[in-house]
Amino acid sequence: MPEGDTIHRTANRLRPALVGQTLVRFDAPRAAGKRPRPGATVESVEAVGKHLLIRFSGGVSLRTHMRMTGSWHLYRTDERWKQPAHLARAVVEVEGWTAVCFAAPVVELESVPASALNLAHLGPDLTSDAVTDADIERAIDRMTDAEIGVVLLDQRVASGIGNIWKNETLFICGVDPFRAAGDVNRDTKRALLATASKLLRASVKGAPRTANVYGRARQPCRRCGTPIRSQRQGEQARTAYWCPTCQT
Ligand SMILES: [Zn+2]
Repeated sequence: MPEGDTIHRTANRLRPALVGQTLVRFDAPRAAGKRPRPGATVESVEAVGKHLLIRFSGGVSLRTHMRMTGSWHLYRTDERWKQPAHLARAVVEVEGWTAVCFAAPVVELESVPASALNLAHLGPDLTSDAVTDADIERAIDRMTDAEIGVVLLDQRVASGIGNIWKNETLFICGVDPFRAAGDVNRDTKRALLATASKLLRASVKGAPRTANVYGRARQPCRRCGTPIRSQRQGEQARTAYWCPTCQT
């Protein structure tokens, strides 16, 4: 289940293999638009929120969004792929390496510089070390009055938070995921975003994940022993996990 930090780790893994290399083969069977040609150079591999952007010389960019199903794999040229070829949504091959994106629901080609891609609707990227207090304030201003567990997943508010860190953040801050964001005070919203950012940045750097609530339905709360509850939430029916005693 890729979150912003996972996308950053993917970018960190692909970058040394691809950037500066000459494209040998490119394939994206379902994507419309101008394709990078063999001979083009891979200029950059970047994670922006939950999007992975690969930019080629000639002004073509490949944008992938993993949602729940997608993943990028990196193989040596002759290595056997771990998923069937018919699930490949994008293949970027350079000398020695083949990067394959499997089962991603969003694979788009854009013939403009990656820096100008239409990502303006995304909130500040909380996985970035460059996040400022002003970014956090701006994200708070973008919050709707929907349930806070839904609002934290809204990438227009702040990008990078997925379902794992949403749940963990709400536990750490003692906030019930079903509370309306409109009833959560500004200090608490600030604490939620700062906590999520801290967790995401630690995870990008490879810190181990120890879940307090995520995936622990019916198990005792590590803080108070109350069984953890779980329930689907919001239009996307992402599962909320919370301690009914510690989170109010
Ligand atoms: Zn508890």
